Amino acid sequence: MKFNTVIIGGGLAGLVAGISLQKAGRSTAIISTGQNALHFFSGSFESIEEAPQRIIDLFAEAGVRLHYAPGVRLMPMGTFKKSTLSLEDISLLPEPKIGSKALIVSFSGYHDFFCSFLAEGLEKQGMSCRIKMLDLPELEKLEQSPSEMRSVQIARTMDRIWENVVREIRMLLRDEDTVILPQVFGLRDTSIPDRIRQGIPAQVIFTGTLPPSVPGIRTQLLLKRRYELLGGTYLMGDEATGAHVHEGSVHSIVTHNLGNHFLEAENFILATGAYFSKGLRSNPFQISEPIFGLDVEQAAERSDWYNPEFMREQPYMKYGVATDATLHALKDGEPIKNLYAIGSILGETHSEMGTGGGLAIRSALAVADQILKTSEE
Ligand SMILES: Cc1cc2nc3c(=O)[nH]c(=O)nc-3n(C[C@H](O)[C@H](O)[C@H](O)COP(=O)(O)OP(=O)(O)OC[C@H]3O[C@@H](n4cnc5c(N)ncnc54)[C@H](O)[C@@H]3O)c2cc1C
Repeated sequence: MKFNTVIIGGGLAGLVAGISLQKAGRSTAIISTGQNALHFFSGSFESIEEAPQRIIDLFAEAGVRLHYAPGVRLMPMGTFKKSTLSLEDISLLPEPKIGSKALIVSFSGYHDFFCSFLAEGLEKQGMSCRIKMLDLPELEKLEQSPSEMRSVQIARTMDRIWENVVREIRMLLRDEDTVILPQVFGLRDTSIPDRIRQGIPAQVIFTGTLPPSVPGIRTQLLLKRRYELLGGTYLMGDEATGAHVHEGSVHSIVTHNLGNHFLEAENFILATGAYFSKGLRSNPFQISEPIFGLDVEQAAERSDWYNPEFMREQPYMKYGVATDATLHALKDGEPIKNLYAIGSILGETHSEMGTGGGLAIRSALAVADQILKTSEE
């Protein structure tokens, strides 16, 4: 199988690169073992400070509506965190204050949303809170098994019964100016959070639950669908296990499922994430990149990898594969001509590109542009 570009890793970085290349008419394949950091996504992209119209448009074309409003968002413990670019269902507030009285609503038997911590955090800031657990007959079947009362299962049900929730809240509402709900709405239908806001005569704020993240899973599904609609080949559940590299260029990728059918391409993009997704691995002696054996920027002494004060910034989180200025990956100090690295596998080796979601998107766009430019020359 031969493509213009093969992308290893189907998280945020891999999908943004794949969509950009498919849109420009290049044939691509994404190989992805499965779960990625989007499944734990808060709904806000880190380190994007400027108004990013190109990014907003790319997501909008996939059905992911973003809004850009430098401010703060409400965290699950009732504190506030600085945020700028976010999914539209995350409320971005101009200041760390949401009103004077809040009704916090959850569901009987659902334990992934910590109402009392949230109330305690908000009360410390002078807000008065009332907690109400809704007893919904539609959730009774899920309640029979506690493992079913998780955010994704609840979200599947909520897609059908959100109007009942709105009705119940309207009856419960007294003089509260704010209603706080868990982020379990709009898994399949992205219009639901907005419609809930319109149906409740108070400010409605959706707040994070324990992972997995419903808005994150929705974002992943929509980006993947957009990529496939553009003609991309998404090899779900497969794993890149090795590569054929000759004279400083990658020739093909070996995958677990395709066996002797190697994936050939002109360009290759490594978007396998950091430790969490096993794009970087570590043992007591070194931190390594397992597919190509690329150079990883890291302190030579293990004792320098971490700060013994657990809550402090940890140096190993900044390590990543070494690349040149155009994100070509380095092996033994030399760039591999047609292999690029993007996303969290870069660590903080390119601090100008930011961290987290900002890094994933910026590096993916930069490499897609680079590939398009090179193939036009
Ligand atoms: C738990 C968690 C929560 C986060 N929350 C936020 C947040 O709220 N906001 C924010 O801005 N940033 C957040 N981040 C930072 C996050 O890393 C980036 O935002 C971004 O999603 C990373 O995308 P990525 O594509 O580089 O890597 P990943 O999302 O890690 O994706 C890498 C993909 O590569 C696949 N893969 C790995 N090895 C192979 C292989 N050999 N073959 C095939 N596939 C492979 C993995 O299965 C995975 O699907 C979070 C990170 C973590 C770990």
